[in-house]
Amino acid sequence: MNCCEESSKVKMQLVGAHHGCQSCDGPSRPVTLRTMLLMLKPEFFDQVGENQYRFCASPECPVVYFSRARSFSTGDLRVRVGLKEKDGPIPLCYCFGFSEEAAREEIQSNGHTAIPQRIAELIRERMCACDVRNPSGACCLGEVTQAVKRLIMEAK
Ligand SMILES: [Zn+2]
Repeated sequence: MNCCEESSKVKMQLVGAHHGCQSCDGPSRPVTLRTMLLMLKPEFFDQVGENQYRFCASPECPVVYFSRARSFSTGDLRVRVGLKEKDGPIPLCYCFGFSEEAAREEIQSNGHTAIPQRIAELIRERMCACDVRNPSGACCLGEVTQAVKRLIMEAK
């Protein structure tokens, strides 16, 4: 299965009042236990338990994973959650390592960046591994496209 082909289906579950983050009530999406264990620091593995967790997608909220019983914040992860970071290097694409800084540099020198197209191409070649690389477990392309739009606005 290609993780990025699934992402459109998963996106449907992003909003929904009863699925709001425990801390900020913002939008969230379900994450697998596998994704969580690949992201969390090992000292938290024993605290995960049997609950179904969701990923909080709010940039302002420090909570990354939450269930009814427990939540984990940015500091509990081994990776930086780009969406929730303010200081560089801010990861945009976890599979191929494109950063916000790389996109900004391209925009500043060329007025645009081909990073989203390059990622889309790699996805078509089935090279992506978002379920094990991206803390949200989902494809980064939507977020990358949004970030690029914001960077182009900022550069004007
Ligand atoms: Zn939240």
